[in-house]
Amino acid sequence: MTPAVEAHINLTALAHNLERVRQAASESKIMAVIKANAYGHGMIQVANALTAADAFSVARLQEAVQLRQAGINKDIIVLEGFNNTAELKEFSRYDLQATVHQLAQIDLLQRTPLEKSIQVWLKIDSGMHRMGVAPEAVGACWKVLQKIESVLAVRLMTHLASADDRGSEQTNQQLDVFKRVTAGIEAETSIANSAGILDWPQSHGDWVRPGIMLYGVSPFLDSGGKDEGLQPVMTLTSRLIAVRYFKQGDKIGYGASWTCPENMPIGIVSCGYGDGYPRHAVPGTLVMVNGMPTPLLGRVSMDTICVDLRQQPDAEVGDTVLLWGESMPVEKVAQSATTIPYEILCCVTQRVQFQYIT
Ligand SMILES: *Cc1c(COP(=O)(O)O)cnc(C)c1O
Repeated sequence: MTPAVEAHINLTALAHNLERVRQAASESKIMAVIKANAYGHGMIQVANALTAADAFSVARLQEAVQLRQAGINKDIIVLEGFNNTAELKEFSRYDLQATVHQLAQIDLLQRTPLEKSIQVWLKIDSGMHRMGVAPEAVGACWKVLQKIESVLAVRLMTHLASADDRGSEQTNQQLDVFKRVTAGIEAETSIANSAGILDWPQSHGDWVRPGIMLYGVSPFLDSGGKDEGLQPVMTLTSRLIAVRYFKQGDKIGYGASWTCPENMPIGIVSCGYGDGYPRHAVPGTLVMVNGMPTPLLGRVSMDTICVDLRQQPDAEVGDTVLLWGESMPVEKVAQSATTIPYEILCCVTQRVQFQYIT
């Protein structure tokens, strides 16, 4: 039985994209960001394939523990750090590096004896105002962390809010704040996400944190992965499961929102939001039927989408449909669904059959 929807994950493209990071930030070490199931690509498989990364980074403790339990022994940085004693002890037990982004975490470190000391990253809020200690608290936090016995190395981190905006004034301001408050502190630094790596060389620091670009996707709105020298890692495909003929005026799908402008063939594709295809994709969003751009029509259903086969009168049941991949960038699909490619990739569901190819 062949599964309806398949995600082919191209591990050679993944390795190429990591190489692209090296080329763009040749002086920096790389912590490959593989949170959220490696942006939907399969965290363990991606970790096993990214042997050339210097470290991995995930958002949650639970993700890091999964990596350790799968036998991954590279350095792992947990971006959200810990929130209580039990969690902190897991960092020691599994040899994980913690981001320390608020004073309560420093308190916990002071109060909790650990069997093995841990490495931490002091996260500085240089202006994004999501996580991080205030710029004026950095000096004091740094001093306190240095004195805690169970803390080994301390490094410095911040995150850019607008690096995907090529001329962003906020990014310049954040870089200034970071530079100012870390002046005189002897420690490794990490600032850049994918957009920083590609467009803000001043942000590279000792460690870069690429996420989306590893998966072959551009972090910018005005370019595609290809323009940035990247190769798409995921290809999502399905098939036509019906070809129907309707008359002018017939209404198609939920809400009868689409009306046939003439007598015409319509293809039913076995792929819908239950597989991760974005429900908000508008009519006209393109999918590739037998390699030809073919517009979606009507509303996206849970299990199916409908496509306009007027340009493809010979299409038949069983024909291949590519939802995104090399010939249909996921960036385009995201735009048609008024979202970002990050969300589309993260939302591919359990029902999809994954295949890893080299
Ligand atoms: C997710 C994340 C990244 C990776 O960002 P991309 O835009 O995917 O490269 C880097 N740093 C932090 C703190 C993150 O949360």
